[in-house]
Amino acid sequence: MSAVDPPPRHVPFQDLEASYRELKEELDAAYQRFMGSGWYVLGEEVASFEREYAAYCAALHCVGVGHGLDALRLALDACEIGPGDEVIVPSNTYIATWLAVSQVGATIVPVEPEPATFNIDPRRIASAVTARTKAVLPVNLYGQPCDYDPILEIAGDHGLRVIIDNAQAHGAQYKGRPVGGIADVECHSFYPTKNLGAFGEAGAVTTNDPVIADRIRVLRNYGSRIRYQNEQIGYNSRLDELQAGFLRVKLRKLDDWNARRREIAVEYREGLNDVDDLLLPATADWAEHAWHLFVIRHPRRDELQTTLGEAGIQTLIHYPIPPHRSGAYAGSSVSDAALPIADELSQDVLSLPMGPFLDEAATAAVVRAVRELA
Ligand SMILES: *Cc1c(COP(=O)(O)O)cnc(C)c1O
Repeated sequence: MSAVDPPPRHVPFQDLEASYRELKEELDAAYQRFMGSGWYVLGEEVASFEREYAAYCAALHCVGVGHGLDALRLALDACEIGPGDEVIVPSNTYIATWLAVSQVGATIVPVEPEPATFNIDPRRIASAVTARTKAVLPVNLYGQPCDYDPILEIAGDHGLRVIIDNAQAHGAQYKGRPVGGIADVECHSFYPTKNLGAFGEAGAVTTNDPVIADRIRVLRNYGSRIRYQNEQIGYNSRLDELQAGFLRVKLRKLDDWNARRREIAVEYREGLNDVDDLLLPATADWAEHAWHLFVIRHPRRDELQTTLGEAGIQTLIHYPIPPHRSGAYAGSSVSDAALPIADELSQDVLSLPMGPFLDEAATAAVVRAVRELA
């Protein structure tokens, strides 16, 4: 090391507390407003967040629910998907996408991604459609919108619903349109690590279809529209009033925070585009990527992760076990499906530190360490 080298520094994967430090006054005010309101479930904060988030997504309706998994489950239920129906899902995703399909009793039909973008390959969808297929459930993985147009076209040809898992791409755009208001139903998680994250559990469904929005409103509240009149076997999955208040504050910062994520992606791309054996994530030219994660691929991924860790750079793997290899699906017919792309990705993907509070010195330290160790 020469005198001009900066000292090695610890770079955490992300800093969750930083958003509280930045917005402390407004978040504390939201908390106090909530405590003094005397109304703690499905009140003004939820109603206001639903209006504001629907507008943000350019969707006609938003219904707040308990978390992202329930957003998916209630969306499937509202689309009347259940036992005997097939749902096309990406082979590579966080397992929640699959679990929601299993929870409503439908059958999972995994379809492989385009390895460069990590998103479901629209060219593989049509051949996976059968007489039983009811819906396609793509994921906007790592913050990048899936290719909506060809997917909506195939769905239109076969009379399928398109339900989007948008847990990871709040604020992304597809051909200039915000995600959330494009497909039949779009499902959002506000788990604390997401681009728009609560300080606890939270989720929402957005849609332009008033019937689906109405069904989800009833489903999330015991199947009830009028107190003690239960039309159906519903759930209790209401967006928490306090979390809604926090989300309203954070939603106003989301575009700024996503802009910083985009800068980080540029810093990584410029710093790492010539490293041997390293594959950088591809962005489609129509995508405004929300950079939930910056995922690289490397043939000696485990070794790279270990040495980066020793150098103080925290990385994560999204995801080390593809859903079909997980214990949850052991013994089911999908467990022996041939899904070589999902298998391969689980072996070589690595997520670099990412988040709006990562400064340039931190990304420079990551670039330096990866260049040295990869
Ligand atoms: C986080 C996530 C979910 C689940 O969200 P929760 O709020 O944790 O239930 C679903 N799908 C994907 C792709 C996710 O990343």
